Amino acid sequence: MKLTLLGTGDAGHIPVYGCDCKACLTAKEDPSFKRGKTSAVVEIGSKQLLIDGNAPDLLQRFPPGSLDAIWLTHYHMDHVQSLFDLRWGVGESILVYGPDDPNGCDDLFKHPGILAFQTPLRPFFPIEFEGISITPVPLAHSKVSLGYVFETTRGGVVKRLAYLTDTRGLPEETLHWLIENPVDLILIDCAFPPGDNWRNHNDVVLAKSLFNKIQPDAMGLIHIGHKLACWAMDNPDYFNDHFFLARDGQEFLL
Ligand SMILES: [Zn+2]
Ligand SMILES: [Zn+2]
Ligand SMILES: [Zn+2]
Repeated sequence: MKLTLLGTGDAGHIPVYGCDCKACLTAKEDPSFKRGKTSAVVEIGSKQLLIDGNAPDLLQRFPPGSLDAIWLTHYHMDHVQSLFDLRWGVGESILVYGPDDPNGCDDLFKHPGILAFQTPLRPFFPIEFEGISITPVPLAHSKVSLGYVFETTRGGVVKRLAYLTDTRGLPEETLHWLIENPVDLILIDCAFPPGDNWRNHNDVVLAKSLFNKIQPDAMGLIHIGHKLACWAMDNPDYFNDHFFLARDGQEFLL
């Protein structure tokens, strides 16, 4: 399977509207430094599974029949906003999986259109999809949120990739699960530089402490805010091949 990051930014994305900080200026000059809102697409054989429905070009990028399922991490607007356009499509419905959040977002559940919302996922109960096991794990956020651990087994070798956004720290049961089930790569919410202690997202010190506790082969940061992007420009030594800021368009194979 291949996971491609469609975006790696937070809700304000980069460049932030009206901002002239170093990270935003760089992104204006060189589009490769832009960060769209965090989402990803997973390709398994000929199937495509979208994680979160917020890409601004979602309707163009995924023409009718090209999406086999959408998996939502949670129902904050910056993760579902393109579903408000997609739902009014016609034709085959699209399976949508997500956490147990009866409120959803605005009137998505009341008027789902072609979005076929499935029974909410149960944490730690894996679902098989095209030979890949996907385990939902609870996250620590201001709205009910699930991360997803993708697992492949080839020739007796198990590989795991965890996609964990949005979260600040991790619930104890998720932390233990990730320690007991070794993970090759973790992609995790990290919106802020050190000392920017917002409650709902990791800062880079907290993310690194999770890296040290779980000890995956590598950890890529996603849901990145412009203040963290600035801080990273000033502190390149804090990062390496095993602890890095992920980039829009970056691909990971499992
Ligand atoms: Zn900025
Ligand atoms: Zn959120
Ligand atoms: Zn978010």
